Amino acid sequence: MRGGRAALRAILLALLAAISVPPLALAQSSQSLAEVLDEFVLANRILADQSIIADGFGHLSVRSPADPNRFYMSRARAAGLVTREDVLEIDTDGKLIDPQGKRTFIERYIHAEIYRARPDVRAVVHSHAPSVIPFGVTGTPLRPVSHMAGFLLGPAPVFEIREAGGEATDMLVKTGALGKALAQKLGPAPVVLMRGHGFNAVGTSIRQAVSRAIYTDLNARTLTEALRMGSVNYLNEREAALIAETNDAVIERSWELWKVRALANTPKL
Ligand code: MN
Repeated sequence: MRGGRAALRAILLALLAAISVPPLALAQSSQSLAEVLDEFVLANRILADQSIIADGFGHLSVRSPADPNRFYMSRARAAGLVTREDVLEIDTDGKLIDPQGKRTFIERYIHAEIYRARPDVRAVVHSHAPSVIPFGVTGTPLRPVSHMAGFLLGPAPVFEIREAGGEATDMLVKTGALGKALAQKLGPAPVVLMRGHGFNAVGTSIRQAVSRAIYTDLNARTLTEALRMGSVNYLNEREAALIAETNDAVIERSWELWKVRALANTPKL
């Protein structure tokens, strides 16, 4: 009887341990720093190859697996050329830990304030993809029409920099105050558009943030086509929720292909 009770307690404790750990967060934070940074470099190449960061202006970041108040970005360099030597560590105040004489992106405050506001976020993509710009400047919401973009249900909120920065900014989120306002506009969403500028996609892993950025661009292009043809039938709430459940497995398949293409099309790592 006593043995049976002990066994039952062991089973209950194992069950409690199993359900109290979010599987996605575990998958990412159990990676070593070297693994995280290798994935970060590859992800930069993928974002360039997929035209999400087509020039020298967009950027990716990943939260430190060791310190939740720090994250990694490359020095100010085109994503398609980023190597391990370009990686810099930054804190959530936007301060470089060890600049090594290098400069990083002025818009690092986008990343810093999103990490501060969203403990669930482990990676952030900042993109200037032209496909999303129309949805930030016309009032037409970016809602999901492709089943791979069910996460856009909401629809994606739009950050208006004039609300926080007034009528005369250079449109760049280059202070902590502007970063805070942007993170507030993002709220719990996976994507926030920036009027006349671009968008940011966040995720619980590099792969999720990168795939959300790629499918945000794809959905924006598809929706623009659909709007030209007539009235649009969007994904409904239940369809979007169901696709979200299976998306992560599908992302792995896409990731493999994006990796092969990026390695073939960008300079050697
Ligand atoms: Mn920008």
